Amino acid sequence: MKKYDVAVIGGGPGGYTAAIRAAQLGACVCLIEKDKVGGTCLNRGCIPTKALLSCTQVYAHIKKAQEFGIKVDGVEANWSQMIERKDQVVKKLVTGVEFLLKSYKIDLIDGKAGLIDKNIIAIEQSNGGDTQIEAANIILATGSRPALIPAFNIDGKQVITSNEALDLAELPESIIIIGGGVIGCEFACIFAELGVKVTIIEALDRILNTEDRQISQRMRGIFRKRGITIHTKSKISAVEKSSEGVSAVLESGQKISAKKTLVSIGRSLNTQGLGLENAGIELGARGEIAVNEKMQTNIPHIYAIGDVVGKIMLAHVAASQGMVAAGNIMGKPDIMQYDAVPGAVFTQPELASVGLTADKAKEAGYEVKLGNFSFMALGKALAMGEAEGTIRLVCDAKTDKVLGGQIMGPHATDLIAEITLAISQGATASDIGNTIHAHPTLA
Ligand code: FAD
Repeated sequence: MKKYDVAVIGGGPGGYTAAIRAAQLGACVCLIEKDKVGGTCLNRGCIPTKALLSCTQVYAHIKKAQEFGIKVDGVEANWSQMIERKDQVVKKLVTGVEFLLKSYKIDLIDGKAGLIDKNIIAIEQSNGGDTQIEAANIILATGSRPALIPAFNIDGKQVITSNEALDLAELPESIIIIGGGVIGCEFACIFAELGVKVTIIEALDRILNTEDRQISQRMRGIFRKRGITIHTKSKISAVEKSSEGVSAVLESGQKISAKKTLVSIGRSLNTQGLGLENAGIELGARGEIAVNEKMQTNIPHIYAIGDVVGKIMLAHVAASQGMVAAGNIMGKPDIMQYDAVPGAVFTQPELASVGLTADKAKEAGYEVKLGNFSFMALGKALAMGEAEGTIRLVCDAKTDKVLGGQIMGPHATDLIAEITLAISQGATASDIGNTIHAHPTLA
């Protein structure tokens, strides 16, 4: 049986980052992946959605060309070419990760892994064979998958998840999106831009409920102007299918119909079939693999990272947790900190946030000082024709330290990096203000 210093199960952004870091620090490493390296992020998540959003952004720009003094006739969006382009972007990145793994001499094992005990892993290989390996340390990075509810009748055809939405053969005339969270709203932007009639049904009292309340209210107005219908405080009791399409039946009795329904109500953690019980690994209250700040499970040489630990389900968090886990295994003690984790929503306009909102800062006992600025007053934003938006900086009134920031507007997801750096380095609002920024830019 082949022996490794570190075996990583799951090749998403958490797993491949951990594997590479461990190899950089001198470990003999294997990475076991049952599908494609890159995981959800590269194959069914971050990258494919952003590749499609880039297509719809170009389309939106061209449709606005007249405003910039450019006459363009016969603009047409071709969905299947967009899907093709998205697939090419994904392929390039997956190949890049495979190349990196090879260059660090990491054994990439193709198959489904499960723990037999605290050190032995059984692998059902994709070619039908079975094998086992032994590892001194194990990192579990098996990620998550779309959450399914039986009443929603998900069949992957009429009622789909984000996985199928990324590979639709053709655009539906209309779509119901169940769940107005980040994933639902990003898809709403993609489809609405391409002329699909979109209806979002959200059980809570607002869409994008993890964002600042004011910002999510403004986004609702912007979505409405774009023709997206939104039902909040609306719970669905059933989804009915017919040859005509799909109907979502609300608890109120109202029926909403469309050609397809996309269910984006959250993610389920990939913990089953992993043999966690064979190694005595404990789960938390929500079924997540319980870890400490070093990303260690209750079994000291077994770590877990990424979506499967259910902390903040984002690719950059998974990667960061992977770095921490690999560092701890390789004698470089590290702990995971979550006070400067940026969140990005790639709607139009984009949203991004980091650290504390004003309300959360007050709840935490800070005397809060706020800085607000509208993109309407920013030369570059006006020149770009994208002046819809606002930025808020949340600071400690006593020390001037930056505690958080929320941005809605063009390139918000890039701009948030500066506030993230400020928080992580303990910088003050004056530190940012006294830094010379190039003019005219959004920064
Ligand atoms: P995953 O990426 O889920 O990878 C886990 C891997 O483990 C998979 O490849 C799986 O095949 C493999 N695996 C599972 N079980 C086994 C087993 N038993 N044996 C072997 N292999 C196994 N995050 C962002 O930060 N920004 C975004 O813009 C963003 N957009 C998203 C859009 C969508 C539509 C979705 C669905 C998600 C998005 N996310 C985004 C979230 C992001 O994709 C995840 O947080 C991230 O991929 C988690 O990484 P991970 O390594 O924990 O797991």
